[in-house]
Amino acid sequence: MAKIIIVGGGIAGLSAGIYALKAGYEAEIYEKNPLVGGECMGWNRKGYHIDNCIHWLTGTDPKTGLWEVWKTVGAIDENTEYAKTSKFYSSRAEGREVTLWNDLDKTEKELIAESPEDEEEIKKFIQHVRYAEDCVIPSIKPLDMMGMRDYIEMGKGMANMPKVMKEYGKINCFELGKRFKSPVIRKMMSDYLPGEYTAYSLIVSYATMTSGNGNIPMKGSLAMSLRIAERFKEMGGVIHTATPVSEIVIKGKKTEGIKLEDGSFIPADFVISAVDTDFLFGRLIDRKYMPKDLVKAYEKRDAYPVTTGFQVAYAIDDTFSGEDTIFFDCEPMQIGTRTFSRLSVKNYAYDKSFAPEGKAVLQANLIQTDADYEYWASLSKEEYRAKKEELTSMITDRIVKEFPELAGKIELLDSWSPMTYNRYCNAYHGSYMGFVTTVGNKQMRFKGVVKGVDNLYVAGQWVMSPGGLPIAVVSGKFAVQRILKKAGKSILI
Ligand SMILES: Cc1cc2nc3c(=O)[nH]c(=O)nc-3n(C[C@H](O)[C@H](O)[C@H](O)COP(=O)(O)OP(=O)(O)OC[C@H]3O[C@@H](n4cnc5c(N)ncnc54)[C@H](O)[C@@H]3O)c2cc1C
Repeated sequence: MAKIIIVGGGIAGLSAGIYALKAGYEAEIYEKNPLVGGECMGWNRKGYHIDNCIHWLTGTDPKTGLWEVWKTVGAIDENTEYAKTSKFYSSRAEGREVTLWNDLDKTEKELIAESPEDEEEIKKFIQHVRYAEDCVIPSIKPLDMMGMRDYIEMGKGMANMPKVMKEYGKINCFELGKRFKSPVIRKMMSDYLPGEYTAYSLIVSYATMTSGNGNIPMKGSLAMSLRIAERFKEMGGVIHTATPVSEIVIKGKKTEGIKLEDGSFIPADFVISAVDTDFLFGRLIDRKYMPKDLVKAYEKRDAYPVTTGFQVAYAIDDTFSGEDTIFFDCEPMQIGTRTFSRLSVKNYAYDKSFAPEGKAVLQANLIQTDADYEYWASLSKEEYRAKKEELTSMITDRIVKEFPELAGKIELLDSWSPMTYNRYCNAYHGSYMGFVTTVGNKQMRFKGVVKGVDNLYVAGQWVMSPGGLPIAVVSGKFAVQRILKKAGKSILI
């Protein structure tokens, strides 16, 4: 039986492993960390669980093709319990608060009551969120393997998406905000996704929640990663954790296998890289193999920014009144040359398994981007530690100022920065998503193949913007389908 070696045990690598076994190959995953899951992760501190990924899982609607993929890999099934959350997020400004509820009628009513002079723009926004509810992520086969019939079928399902693209495809979230007169609605439009993101990304994300296709599985992100790993092992797959790969060995036009950091060589018939592409092209193989579009994206930092965060987790009482995610204005905080005066907290009280009885976890996130990463990376060890401590304490003060009921009742559990993602996952600039699509620049996407190396394939969230869990999981399946196609076998797995 031919053997596929997979480098990286995040969601993409685990998915590639499961589909490789389904396709009749032998499969082994090599993961650098002691645990699989990559960025789909959680950890324990002081008796609490810090869940650090799933804010929404696209593909929880059983009518979608993506649901089938999640079910195949063992992430969710018909019996999965989801968090009973009722909103995407709330935004506060100037003493006002508005919410993007999962119930679109409720949102419409609330926003119009808040700002009657914005009624026309609000109705347009809500209508386009309804249009975007049909948006699907291709999950049956890669776009380049789709025929005319596949495209017609996909187009039929997304007949309203062109309207969304026409109205919101050429402006970013900041510009979307400017269409509203109400200061709080303005801020809300660029709160969740960075302001440079195309506005349609916000519409599609919100539509995922309102359509019921973006639920949060109970027990969190790590539990989901471990369920997928369990499925892989039950099917006969082998996982090597705490085993960093140092090289994908290429001879002529083929890879012969991988070299581990301890120097040993593992032969393979095929290799699928499921690590960050910045690490693959440059560290595991020569940068010269990087596809041209990807090179351009890495070079054009303003056109293709990335997103990461400085995050802090706290223990609080579960009687805290703040529900889910809330954004608010705060006293400015300086990180390098950039100043931040807006902050968000997310209350994880919806999942009792994360905290002891009567308690809950609250997390704050200060969204960071390339420039912030450069700043963090420029610090010495001591400077880094001091800045992290200073920022953590500033964030705590600002949370207590916004929510005085937390005074004396908020305990620090942990804080982490963009550097953490880089150290833990080899993530480019600490990014936890793929490249951001900005207005006027085409969406970053490349075929998961390496020109000049016949049996090396690429999976992972970087193969298609905006990344995230759905792209990661389908990219693993697509990599195996590419192997099958080349072997002249059926790609329907
Ligand atoms: C705070 C946060 C919130 C998020 N929220 C959401 C959300 O709500 N919805 C959503 O869809 N997505 C969300 N994401 C994004 C999502 O987690 C990622 O898109 C996804 O997990 C990426 O999976 P991946 O397999 O492509 O990459 P990764 O998870 O980066 O996996 C790569 C793996 O390769 C391993 N590796 C690296 N180098 C080596 C080496 N040399 N040898 C062996 N192994 C190596 C890494 O350790 C890692 O396990 C969030 C992420 C974060 C951090």
